[in-house]
Amino acid sequence: MSAKSDLSLIRNIGITAHIDAGKTTTTERILYYTGVSHKIGEVHEGNTTTDYMAQERERGITITSAAVTCEWEGHRINIIDTPGHIDFNIEVNRSLRVLDGAIFIIEGVAGVQPQSETNWRLADRYNVPRIIFINKLDRTGANFYNAFDTLKEKLDIVAIPLQLPIGAEENFVGVVDLIEMRAIVWEGGELGAKFHYEEIPADLKEKAEEARQNLLDTALSVDDAAMEEYFDKGDVDVATLKRCIKKGTIAGDFRPVLCGTAFKNKGVQPLLDAVIDFLPAPNDVEGIRIAPPEDEEVDENKLPIVPVDPDGKFAGLAFKIINDKYGTLTFVRVYRGVLKTGDTVLNTTKGHKERIGRIYQMHADKREELSEVHAGDIAAFVGLKDSQTGDTLADPTDPVVLERMTFPIPVIDIS
Ligand code: GDP
Repeated sequence: MSAKSDLSLIRNIGITAHIDAGKTTTTERILYYTGVSHKIGEVHEGNTTTDYMAQERERGITITSAAVTCEWEGHRINIIDTPGHIDFNIEVNRSLRVLDGAIFIIEGVAGVQPQSETNWRLADRYNVPRIIFINKLDRTGANFYNAFDTLKEKLDIVAIPLQLPIGAEENFVGVVDLIEMRAIVWEGGELGAKFHYEEIPADLKEKAEEARQNLLDTALSVDDAAMEEYFDKGDVDVATLKRCIKKGTIAGDFRPVLCGTAFKNKGVQPLLDAVIDFLPAPNDVEGIRIAPPEDEEVDENKLPIVPVDPDGKFAGLAFKIINDKYGTLTFVRVYRGVLKTGDTVLNTTKGHKERIGRIYQMHADKREELSEVHAGDIAAFVGLKDSQTGDTLADPTDPVVLERMTFPIPVIDIS
């Protein structure tokens, strides 16, 4: 996308999970399924998809990168790495600042675990809209309903299922889609396994109808016009329902819940659909505050907000620096304006100028060189000499300083 990006087609998301809940597996599957559309023509018989994943790992760009970009249904999804461990709390904070939404994974056996609670509260602090994915439903002892109950018990949230599982443990085959009221069933559990739509199984019909009623009652309550339509006609169309789910998700009124097994490749495509449908585009959320003045006590909530504005003067936030064999990559979330290769920016945090060399976006299998990057997007810059994580880069003629990412580092007692 070299022309001005359509903000509504961008999603900047994170994936957070308790260790072992399946964050890595889910991320890999997302990269596989988003890559498969342009890969499929190149994949020869016998060149198994697993080889493809192995190659990805060798290249090491995928999940070790600070931000990896993929495409789904005409949208660009930037997945920003959010470390899951408590001792990386400061890193989690940094990444939460620059993402607009998140997939929150819990696993189907234990449900919400202590670290999930910590991550949830952190995301709450930044009002990050979230969709929840209950993973590992293929495992012995996994139970969607028990895991779902832990969401309410431990996180004290209004959670609404958008799906119900079909079958359990080794017989988990797919999900009931409560929005379209149909079954989505996978034909096998290997990478690339196809799915098809079916009627909802008879033994799940009543449960599905009840769950859909709950979904309608909860989702439509955020929108008077939709509620009225519902009272008039007894139902609403899919687009209206989706619009209401998105609105409630962004406001945090409720949290949509999806399910599946990343490892057995069931549930990943609908999860990607949900990212597009329910998590915000950069211009659906409010932007970023300016930094408080150094020497004054101010109420930070009253500081002005810099909205995501493609037409403004450039401003962005460096959120991660990575040194690799190509040199230093500075990952930047752009909030305002456009930045082109060769531009000079002011590091307004430090007060010195920097020149932008090459601009890249990291994909699963390649790094894509861009000539420019626009508000709402994320890219990695080469050539910055003295900028650090948390620094603002801005057009020298409008030297705004964006919210700093300095937080008290939790003291971890290991004595
Ligand atoms: P992370 O620590 O959250 O990144 O978790 P990983 O993705 O590394 O997964 C931890 C372990 O659980 C690995 O051995 C995965 O193969 C396994 N795993 C992940 N997802 C699933 C799943 O859906 N079903 C099953 N049975 N195992 C899974």
